[in-house]
Amino acid sequence: MNIAIVLAAGAGQRMKQFGAKQFINLADKPLLSYSLDAFEKANLVDAVILVVKAEQVQKAEELVRQNEYTKVAKVLAGGKERQDSCYQAVKVLNDAADIVAIHDAARALIGPKLIDELIAAIGSDDGIIAGVPVIDTIKRVTGNQLIKKTAERAFLWVAQTPQVFKAGPLKISYEKAMQQGYYATDDASLLERQGYRVKMYMGSYDNIKITTPEDLNVAEEILKRRKVESRNRL
Ligand code: C5P
Repeated sequence: MNIAIVLAAGAGQRMKQFGAKQFINLADKPLLSYSLDAFEKANLVDAVILVVKAEQVQKAEELVRQNEYTKVAKVLAGGKERQDSCYQAVKVLNDAADIVAIHDAARALIGPKLIDELIAAIGSDDGIIAGVPVIDTIKRVTGNQLIKKTAERAFLWVAQTPQVFKAGPLKISYEKAMQQGYYATDDASLLERQGYRVKMYMGSYDNIKITTPEDLNVAEEILKRRKVESRNRL
């Protein structure tokens, strides 16, 4: 079975003035609906575990009911950090889970095509994640902003989600990290740390993480452009 974990338990600090981030409307529907729509449509996803803040579980369950997201099997309460939220879902994975796709609901512009491509491409590796080559030059600096090193751009990619893993290595890596109190900013880091093989897969520069009100405007522009493109294709 292929399971998706959709993470939507962030505080959305930089979006507070508009209310709970995951329920803010982007164009004509709540931000959270975009990711749930994409996973519902992805052919290779069997079930979805949705993680939201404890006080939003009921609201999220309502959204699931209203939109008939038949794949959403569980709505769980998240934790303090993103990793704590994801761990709540990893903990309840049963033995039927073969592949697990983890996605940040803040990347609302995800589509079913990239989700299916990632799951299909995992092959004999332990994980595969969406990402894009870095466009800017990246500098490593000290605490007082002295430049220490310029990394070679040709080998640098920006990590996005979905991040897709074999269930076994994912569970082991999460248990180890949580036991040791090790926190990372993405899930792949936890597997890399255990020596598992995780591959990078070409995502999309449109797959932005919506964190600020300005990002909402950018996302709306991308949606408008997509509409025009699909109209032109007809
Ligand atoms: O914190 P960050 O911006 O990296 O959040 C990425 C994703 O993780 C978002 O979709 C957010 O809702 C989710 N998250 C979570 N639980 C937290 C913090 C973030 O599910 N405690």
